[in-house]
Amino acid sequence: MRTRHSKLFVPGPTEVRPEILQAMATPQIYHRAPEFSELYADIQGKLKRFLNTEGAVFLFTASSTGAMEAAVQNCVKKKCLNLVNGAFSLRWHEITAGCGIPCEALTVPWNVAIKPEMVADKLRSGQFDAVTLVYNETSTGLMNPLQEIAEVVRKFPDVVLLVDSVSAMGGVKIEVDKLGLDVCLAGVQKCMGLPAGLAISTASERALARAKEPPFRSYYWSYTEMMKYHKKNQTPATPSIPHLYALNAQLDAMFEEGLDHRFARHDAMARTVQEWALKHFAMYPEKGYWSKTVSCIENTRNISVDKLSDELVREHGVLISEGYGEIKGKTFRIAHMGDLTVPDVRGLLATIDGILGL
Ligand SMILES: *Cc1c(COP(=O)(O)O)cnc(C)c1O
Repeated sequence: MRTRHSKLFVPGPTEVRPEILQAMATPQIYHRAPEFSELYADIQGKLKRFLNTEGAVFLFTASSTGAMEAAVQNCVKKKCLNLVNGAFSLRWHEITAGCGIPCEALTVPWNVAIKPEMVADKLRSGQFDAVTLVYNETSTGLMNPLQEIAEVVRKFPDVVLLVDSVSAMGGVKIEVDKLGLDVCLAGVQKCMGLPAGLAISTASERALARAKEPPFRSYYWSYTEMMKYHKKNQTPATPSIPHLYALNAQLDAMFEEGLDHRFARHDAMARTVQEWALKHFAMYPEKGYWSKTVSCIENTRNISVDKLSDELVREHGVLISEGYGEIKGKTFRIAHMGDLTVPDVRGLLATIDGILGL
């Protein structure tokens, strides 16, 4: 077994700061005790401010996939349009279909962004009452135009917009209410810089109303059950209390850094990697849609990504990510999210330069 920790430049899980790990070691409290409700309420206020919403922000003890499942189970009654241009958006389509929910995928090539007019064309058919969108496709380093797509979906009053912002939340500003997002969800092990095991999910009034209409598909994921307890500043089932302490501490740290600074730091890290990639390789996604939190780089020099990764881990204690699924070998990914800094990223790139002789 390797004893040395490899610093994570992979798109989740990300590095967790020692102070946060320490917060997780807080002694357990009873989840029906007043001090739990205080903790929950404290977090709730911070999440509303963080996500720019007046609506409820649920906390599921689950990874992101659970919250993705919850969103479609609660909010789709007629038929769901799944926008697919990568591995995670494909997963959401598979989740929807796997739950037995009527759905159809709008699929575009993985390096191409979903454009608002494609969505409008589909919605005009009147078949759909929900749309799923992955804001930042972690598998391809592509950021879909959330604002433009949200504007289009809002023109269809009976259609709810469900957004996976898993690898964006905490790295870019998300204005949930202003954009009219009915659900905006994320696991905490990406840009939030916490260990996996907790998912954050907003729910608009419309989403909550949908959840009250049949068919009812789940108990654990029921927004209606969540809401009953949310009003008491509790969760229906026992949550991962260590995660709540960690999230509370991390939200404080984010406000202390300043959210604008945090987002500017992500932007600066992204630009640093993009500049380097353009000099030595090429970017995989279509221009104009490059992610602020993870860069997917086309392997134009035909290097052995495996060999590079091995050497980075073995000799330098850093971990990058190979391409995902279909684009394995043809691409590699460098994540620049969470609590990483521009000097961290520069250090990594200099190390890669050294190994590849760039
Ligand atoms: C990581 C990721 C997921 C899946 O997350 P889990 O927490 O492993 O369930 C879903 N969507 C996106 C965009 C992701 O980056």
